[in-house]
Amino acid sequence: MTEQPFLRTAVRVFRKLTPRAKVAVCELPLTLVVTGLIVASSGVWPTLFQNWMLVVGLLLHGTLFLACFLVPWERLPSNASLIIPILDFVALAFTRSGSYGVLPGLAVLALFPVIWLSASGLRAKTSLSISFAGPLVISLPAFISHLPQPTAADIFSVAVLPLLLLAVSITIRLSGSNARIQQRRVSERDQALRQLLAASKDREMLLETILDTIDVGIVAVDSKGKTVLTNNQQREFLRLAKTGASTDDDESFIHGLDKQTPLPPGKRPIERAIQGETFSDYLVWFGSGPEQRAISTAARSMKRPADDGFGGAVIVFRDVTDVVEALAAKDELVANVSHEFGSPLTSILGNMDLALHGDEEIPAAPRRRLEVVERNAERLHALVQDLLLSSAAVESVYLRRTDVSGLVENSLVSAHAQADAANVGLVADVPSPLWAEADPLRLGQALDNLISNAIKYSPGGGQVNVKAARNDGWIHLEVCDTGIGMTSDETAKIFTRFFRTDSARQAAIPGVGLGLSITKSIVERHGGTITCSSMPGKGSTFTVVLPAEHDDAAAAS
Ligand code: ADP
Repeated sequence: MTEQPFLRTAVRVFRKLTPRAKVAVCELPLTLVVTGLIVASSGVWPTLFQNWMLVVGLLLHGTLFLACFLVPWERLPSNASLIIPILDFVALAFTRSGSYGVLPGLAVLALFPVIWLSASGLRAKTSLSISFAGPLVISLPAFISHLPQPTAADIFSVAVLPLLLLAVSITIRLSGSNARIQQRRVSERDQALRQLLAASKDREMLLETILDTIDVGIVAVDSKGKTVLTNNQQREFLRLAKTGASTDDDESFIHGLDKQTPLPPGKRPIERAIQGETFSDYLVWFGSGPEQRAISTAARSMKRPADDGFGGAVIVFRDVTDVVEALAAKDELVANVSHEFGSPLTSILGNMDLALHGDEEIPAAPRRRLEVVERNAERLHALVQDLLLSSAAVESVYLRRTDVSGLVENSLVSAHAQADAANVGLVADVPSPLWAEADPLRLGQALDNLISNAIKYSPGGGQVNVKAARNDGWIHLEVCDTGIGMTSDETAKIFTRFFRTDSARQAAIPGVGLGLSITKSIVERHGGTITCSSMPGKGSTFTVVLPAEHDDAAAAS
């Protein structure tokens, strides 16, 4: 374990050395070993230095070591210093020949220049050839001198040693190239990682810029509900909302639709998102006073890939104060104008009634004209009533114990004349009683609307079916016709105020597109829902689901 860091440090230190010091460090082990061996042997064999070959060999070793320091290697080509290990073979040949009698194994020291050459980066062919030839040069003189009866050591030296050192050289080269391949791979991977990192930093910067540029507040929470991202716009919303607030750390500045009651924690958008809820167009009010803002919120949760559990959520906050104020102003205008129209219209209708149905005899021609005026005044009156209702329906619903089947019955009776005139059949399947907490006036209006629409938008010969049933604590009411129907795009919009389908307009069927929006708000005020399914040319089915009265209350009655 400690070897790797040590080696790495050694390599780092070696790389920092000057070219001369590098050559000297490579030559140092051989010089030290040769010096040590000769010094030790000279004590045992004092006559050793009488051999001129040994002396030449030692001088050569010394000269080569000195040359390591004296030659300006930095100015020479990078491979120039390899002359030193090559000449080491020559020096070793002399040293070994001169000391053969006492130190025959000296040839093994050829290992040092072989290692140097093999690790030097010299071309494979050259370094392998020298690694074989060098040891051969060292061992050949002794072999020749012992011919024709060479010793076992001679045979070892001349044949085995060059081969052995060749094998060593091959091994070093192979492990060197392996290491180089590994290093290349590591550096390629390193580069790929760097590129990925740079790309992801770029993306992060882009995302941050986008998040901070848009005028929508964004908050992201992680799987534990901790906030991990808040963009500039959201910080601005919070700053405005908290201005003047007594506490800074909780979200009590978030108010409900009445603009005053702080939302309980479980109803706050972020808390709802943390509970895993997905929602859109959830309107809340931030702050209070003149800085109060209407904020439309939406949330989408993310799933953990591993177990589909809650993986966090993104909550979006959009300032819709202007839209909400414009809608409120429009509602007020509609209510005021309708109200102002109401009185003169009532007066026109009253006087018209007196004129037409009073004692005075009116000639046929003006009577027909007056009847047209009366019909149109009635239509205008109905429109004004609708307009008034559309701005008031949401506020005024007074619930009490009501039999819904009775309301359906009343609506069917009132619709009979219209159905007969339009030649549309009316069929009902409504069990009695169906008790619910309802406002009979409002719910009656809603039913009138649905049934009269079903007749109005059915060509002659069609049929309207009204069904009701109690199911699992809910009352299901169905108004089904065989009329002109609608496309799915149109079906999605019919509860929007003033929306009318193309086919209704083209067929010049009278209407202003307010009835269904009023019906929807009445049903919702009762805690119910209304849906529609329709097919062009095949007819439409409107389904109202209302909470029924509890069984025990029904039984007690
Ligand atoms: P109005 O009937 O006064 O136009 P409503 O709000 O009642 O207004 O209806 C909105 C629109 O929805 C109608 O104009 C018509 O295009 C379409 N619609 C409503 N009921 C039906 C129905 N039963 N069949 C086909 N279209 C319908």
